[in-house]
Amino acid sequence: MSDVLAVVEHRRGELRPVSFELLTAGRDLAAAMDGELHVAVIGGPVDRYVDRLNRAGVDVIHTVDNGAEFNHDVYVQTVDALCQTLEPGVLLTPHTVNALDYVPAVAIDREMALVTDVLELSVEDDTLLATREFYESKVTASMAVEDTPRAVTIRPGEWPAAEGIAETEVRFFEFEPDDESIKSHVEGYEEAGSSEVDVTAADFLIGVGRGIGEVENLALIEDLAEAGDATIAASRPLVDKGWFETGRQVGQSGKTVSPDVYLAIGISGAVQHVAGIKGADTIVAINTDPHAPIFDIADQAIVGDLFEIVPALTEQVHTQ
Ligand SMILES: Cc1cc2nc3c(=O)[nH]c(=O)nc-3n(C[C@H](O)[C@H](O)[C@H](O)COP(=O)(O)OP(=O)(O)OC[C@H]3O[C@@H](n4cnc5c(N)ncnc54)[C@H](O)[C@@H]3O)c2cc1C
Repeated sequence: MSDVLAVVEHRRGELRPVSFELLTAGRDLAAAMDGELHVAVIGGPVDRYVDRLNRAGVDVIHTVDNGAEFNHDVYVQTVDALCQTLEPGVLLTPHTVNALDYVPAVAIDREMALVTDVLELSVEDDTLLATREFYESKVTASMAVEDTPRAVTIRPGEWPAAEGIAETEVRFFEFEPDDESIKSHVEGYEEAGSSEVDVTAADFLIGVGRGIGEVENLALIEDLAEAGDATIAASRPLVDKGWFETGRQVGQSGKTVSPDVYLAIGISGAVQHVAGIKGADTIVAINTDPHAPIFDIADQAIVGDLFEIVPALTEQVHTQ
């Protein structure tokens, strides 16, 4: 029997949606290990978060009132202290930029086995089985993690959000990080994604990726969008190049969209991109590579050159 410690995430006073997926993963794992699910929320308006985290299957919520937002040094020290006190069999976090920042450091400090970006978890005898992908999603493997304790980060979008209200015990975890070891802190924020276009509100969204090649070629996509009354979004490389505002980026570190139709043009379908488009009713993908991962989730696959297909589509829409 061993317990699970799930550390939830929040940003700007709101729990991130993946926190509720984490509760489901943690509840199922704790049950499989005959243990309890302990949930920790660090910083922010912790009392308000407790009401929302009070979901069926959560045994104890630990609140740690130290700091408003994420800080690497604070999280490393606090999660380290939580692990030292609670001795969980598994430390569970979302696979996010924040978690990747502090979980490896905690795993090293506490000599934990670390498995990242996990899609499925189960327990056989005392062995934790964690499924994850390798080689750009071309291979899926189940890893047996026998060492205890273990740290696991789970991929957003793979578990349903936990529901149901419970009567969970709440404990205040008193921990003051060592101020001298805090090497950085956030001075303020500049709002990213201040795009006037709201890609999350679009019914027909065209996502354009690196397959477009040169910035001049975007005119092809604009023609199609105009003809089809669609909104244009982009994969991260095009945003990084400065071709699009950050508000148009779709994916794990961008927007999560749920249009009626998402047309992915020249996008490979990296997990970080796909994380943002799973809510689309229909996904249509155009790609020259028949093995592109985007075709694994596409409802309709168009294998071919976008420079031939997009103008043909535009013409087709015009003649309708
Ligand atoms: C922590 C982290 C967070 C990230 N967050 C995001 C995110 O939020 N959003 C995001 O998009 N990415 C994100 N990424 C990046 C992600 O891993 C990929 O690198 C990115 O999504 C790839 O973009 P792409 O599909 O446009 O480019 P590529 O992977 O280069 O794919 C280009 C595709 O175009 C196809 N192609 C080429 N020429 C043609 C043609 N003529 N016609 C048709 N198809 C063609 C190719 O076959 C290929 O499949 C993140 C990465 C990390 C590490």
